[in-house]
Amino acid sequence: MRRRAAYFEKVSDGKESEVVCLLCPANCRLSEGQRGICDSRLNHSGELVTENYGELVSCGIDPIEKKPLFHFYPGAKILSTGTTGCNFGCLNCQNWQISQRKQPTTFVSPEQLVEMAGEQGSIGVAFTYTEPMIWFEYVRDVAPLLKQRGLKTVLVSNGYVNREPLLELIELIDAVNIDLKSVRPEFYKKICKGKLEPVLENIELLSGSEVHMEITNLVIPGQNDSDEEIGHLVQFVSDLSPEIPVHFSAFHPDYKLSAEITPDETLTRVRKIARERLSYVYIGNSRIAGAADTICPQCQSIVIRRENYQASLVGLDGQKCRTCGWNTKIIL
Ligand code: SF4
Repeated sequence: MRRRAAYFEKVSDGKESEVVCLLCPANCRLSEGQRGICDSRLNHSGELVTENYGELVSCGIDPIEKKPLFHFYPGAKILSTGTTGCNFGCLNCQNWQISQRKQPTTFVSPEQLVEMAGEQGSIGVAFTYTEPMIWFEYVRDVAPLLKQRGLKTVLVSNGYVNREPLLELIELIDAVNIDLKSVRPEFYKKICKGKLEPVLENIELLSGSEVHMEITNLVIPGQNDSDEEIGHLVQFVSDLSPEIPVHFSAFHPDYKLSAEITPDETLTRVRKIARERLSYVYIGNSRIAGAADTICPQCQSIVIRRENYQASLVGLDGQKCRTCGWNTKIIL
């Protein structure tokens, strides 16, 4: 469904009305009939409109662990949905069929979506699969309705959004997982077709907010897996807070990027580097034993055991480690 976009400005050179989209750092300048990089926003008669309002390409119940969020209601189920399009063009996108191609969608109003979440025993709605920031107007309408029902709003995002819309969302959402793909600007330029700096700024902004944040990094052999790069990423996160959970995930070839599947040895090396500075480090998409367990950073006891996205709270007494009393601050 078409809606007037929330963030844009009109520019005119006297002949034709152009618009500049102010939603994300791509800041697309669009002439009449032209669509932005995300393929979801369009200059229609001198106004910027979004075409994906309420248009769902996928919707289902997932374990919250699958987002991944490990410190936000572990073991809970969450209604997960997404639309088509993305403001990045990652060569390795695992959802490229819906992020880089048009697909049939179904319209679901904000009220209907909230009703579905309530009926399905979900803790709320996760906006995921593609980039929720380009679904801004819909997310902004759904989130307050969820809050009214005591339900949660989660975003699984690349963090590529301008400051003003992010500040607006921060007031409405409960948790995010931000995909920090690298800490090298060249990686973002070459692999993602975007810019690193706004993502880092947004992670800093979120870390100082009330929104629960976890970070994911996909480890791609030969692209972003050097000791030096992992060390810089870990340093950046730990400078914000060593207690931000970080998920390092194994790469599997997809879309336009061919590289080997991330070997277990690489993931083990990455985990070792990360654990020197971070309290909660996880390995995803791998069969390494215990890679998804939550370990108490003080006494090394397992406090949450995870297998196949199922979480068992084996060593927690409330938020505290049952063995040593460390406050994990996990939201339960
Ligand atoms: S949201 Fe889409 S149209 Fe707007 S600046 Fe970003 S990529 Fe361009």
